[in-house]
Amino acid sequence: MIDTAPILTRRFTSPRGLRVGSLTSEGRERRKDEEEAGKGDRSSLICQKRLGLRRAWPSRGLGMDREGREKMMKYGNYKLTGCRVFSLPVPKTCAGGGACKKYCYGLKGRYRMRNVRAALERAYRHTLSKKFVSDIVNELKRARKIYRVRVHEVGDFYSLRYLKKWYKVARACPEFTFLAYTKSLHFILQGGQPPSNFIILASLGGRYDNLAPELEAKGYIRGLTVVVPDISQAPRGWYICPATIPGREHRKVCGRLCDYCWRPQGYKRVAFVQH
Ligand code: SF4
Repeated sequence: MIDTAPILTRRFTSPRGLRVGSLTSEGRERRKDEEEAGKGDRSSLICQKRLGLRRAWPSRGLGMDREGREKMMKYGNYKLTGCRVFSLPVPKTCAGGGACKKYCYGLKGRYRMRNVRAALERAYRHTLSKKFVSDIVNELKRARKIYRVRVHEVGDFYSLRYLKKWYKVARACPEFTFLAYTKSLHFILQGGQPPSNFIILASLGGRYDNLAPELEAKGYIRGLTVVVPDISQAPRGWYICPATIPGREHRKVCGRLCDYCWRPQGYKRVAFVQH
C-alpha cells in the first residue's frame, strides 16, 4: 500500500467510491516535473492509477455529466464558490485587453497546463457553434440549487455576436444571476441594454476605459473594478475585494463570505489586489 499522505492534503471517499483529494506542494511539484518532461498525461495517469486517485483536473476538460454529455462549466474555483464558472482562453479572447496582459493570472499557474489549455480551447470552439446557447441553457437547467453563473473566470467577450449569445442565455434563464467583469466595453455599448439578471462590471485597465462613464450613465454596467498592485494603492472609498487580500486567496471567500458583486442593486466600485 502506497502512502499518499505526503501527496494529498486531504483524502476522502466520494459517494461513487472514488478516492479524491487535492495535491500538496510536493504533489504539484511532481506533476510539474512530469509536464515539463513531456510525459504529463500518461505518467500522471499511471501515478493516479497507482494511488487510486481521480485527477484534480480531468485530462479531458471538465468531464461528463451522468448522461455522458460534456460539461462546459465547472463549480467554483479555489477562491470562488456557490456558482457555475465558464472560461475562455486568454489572451486570444481579450478584445479590450491592455496592460493587464502583463500580469494576467490566466497566463500563469495551472492555466499553463496542457489539459487546462485544451479545455479552454474546446470551450472557445463551442462558443462558435450554433448550439452554444441551447447547450449552456440545458446545462444550467440541470444545475441543482446553484443559481449563479460567473461568465469568464478567465477570458472575455471577444465579439458582439458572442456577447449576444450570453444575453440570450440570461433571458432564457431568468432564475439565474450572471456576473461578468469585462474590458470589452465597446461590445457592451453596441450590445444595448443587458438583461436585468446579467450584471456587468467594467474592468479598468483596458483599451476602452473611456466608454465606462457612458455605459454607467446608460445603465449597461453596474460598476467599475480595478486591479491594484498593493492594498495601499486601492482608490479611496472603493470596496477592497476580500478574496484578493493577501493570505485569504485560497479560502473560498467569494460567494461564501462576500457577495458584493452579485448584488443587483447599486453601482459598485471594487479594487482587486493583484495576486
Ligand atoms: S468583492 Fe466579494 S463578490 Fe466581488 S469578487 Fe470579491 S469576494 Fe467576490
